[in-house]
Amino acid sequence: MKTLVRNGRVALDGCLQPLDLLVVDGRIAALGRVDAASADQVIEAGGCYVLPGFIDFHTHVDDQIGAFYLADGYESSTRVALENGITTLCTFVTQGPGETLLRAMARARAKAEGQSHCDVLWHLTPTTFSPADIATLKVLLAGGYRTLKLYTTYKNAGIFASYDLIEELFQSLGPLGSQFLVHCEDDGIIDAVEVAGLDLSKAFTHTQLRPEAAEVVAIQRVMELALTHRASLHVVHVSTLAGARLLVANRPQGDLSFETCPQYLFLDETWLAREDGHRWLCSPPLRGNRAPFLDLIRQGAADIIATDHCPFCSRDKDSWDGQDLRAVPNGMPGLGSLPHVTWKIWEDDPDRAALGLATHLSLNPALRAGVGHRKGALRTGLDADIVVLDPKGPQRPVRSTAADAYEAFAGFTSPLAFRHVLLRGETRVRDGQLTQPRAPTGQPLQPSPSTLSMA
Ligand SMILES: [Zn+2]
Repeated sequence: MKTLVRNGRVALDGCLQPLDLLVVDGRIAALGRVDAASADQVIEAGGCYVLPGFIDFHTHVDDQIGAFYLADGYESSTRVALENGITTLCTFVTQGPGETLLRAMARARAKAEGQSHCDVLWHLTPTTFSPADIATLKVLLAGGYRTLKLYTTYKNAGIFASYDLIEELFQSLGPLGSQFLVHCEDDGIIDAVEVAGLDLSKAFTHTQLRPEAAEVVAIQRVMELALTHRASLHVVHVSTLAGARLLVANRPQGDLSFETCPQYLFLDETWLAREDGHRWLCSPPLRGNRAPFLDLIRQGAADIIATDHCPFCSRDKDSWDGQDLRAVPNGMPGLGSLPHVTWKIWEDDPDRAALGLATHLSLNPALRAGVGHRKGALRTGLDADIVVLDPKGPQRPVRSTAADAYEAFAGFTSPLAFRHVLLRGETRVRDGQLTQPRAPTGQPLQPSPSTLSMA
């Protein structure tokens, strides 16, 4: 099957170029002037940007978090993802209590199989580190799993890693190619907050329970360890100007990157002061004074923009009795709104915005996830994950999730229209709608752990 995408402006090497793009058997076969007679199918992309498929580098789906199960499973999450140009969903597999990581991975994979509309990549969240656990991680790293998630907080949830443990892992797994994704909020600072004087019935108090200093101190500590041991560090969901500046200043010293999320750019802490402010409760919290942070990100400071999509059903979020905000499930939806809200960072300059999507939603996440040989760019030989994006569609409300959850970006609209989304060469979305909603064709991007020979 040969498909020609023609007359669009193609994002390539940081520029927009008037090129045709030929897809053969699921891969990009040629860029340049291509004779339409050689194609079985022609997609007209006039007036549109032609961009590499997007990757949401940070999502939580089909998982229990604290007392509640997430609203989105693999089917609903990958559906809203693909309809919005996201051809790869990165999500987490977390080792549960008394469970091996392999068992957790088999569980996640079984849930995703046959249900996913876009491709899926798993970041691993190991929670125990016995010699056997480390041996397993080494085999997984050798087999193509690169990204490990660690938390400097959440002792009660059993996922906390001390700075000493993080340092040990940097030393033992860093040289094997592990990419460390770290949630940076210093648990000591959070523990030291004097809760007695605080009004826990107000969602806004969340900003005091998890202060900016907790993030900045944890970033400083973890970054210093990574630089000392030459480990590859990616800091997830940076929400503070000081934290982002620290990482930018030290980036030349090592392999450092960071992401921020649309909610830290376009939603501020005043959302927590609303009557229903508990719905906007996430960690790190929404912050004040976003203008300088947004300015820094507009300059391209963040490597990746990702959602930290963590949608709870409206009824679960709203089941809070208003007594102690620490009982509210932490997280908000974002997945389907990712390209629309990211676009707003540069909306005054649509070409810059289109290139911003290509870099921060595709190239950089592909490289950090270790799938740059297949995803992240429109180059010959790579998977033909292609977005034909019309920037001048009718303004429509953004939709973060198809699940039974409230909209985090309430009132936000976007003119972006997804005319065509190709997944490995097949048109899976036309004018924002799945072409075959009952026939998901997403694939896992890593080998089945059972096919790797375990030590
Ligand atoms: Zn997260």
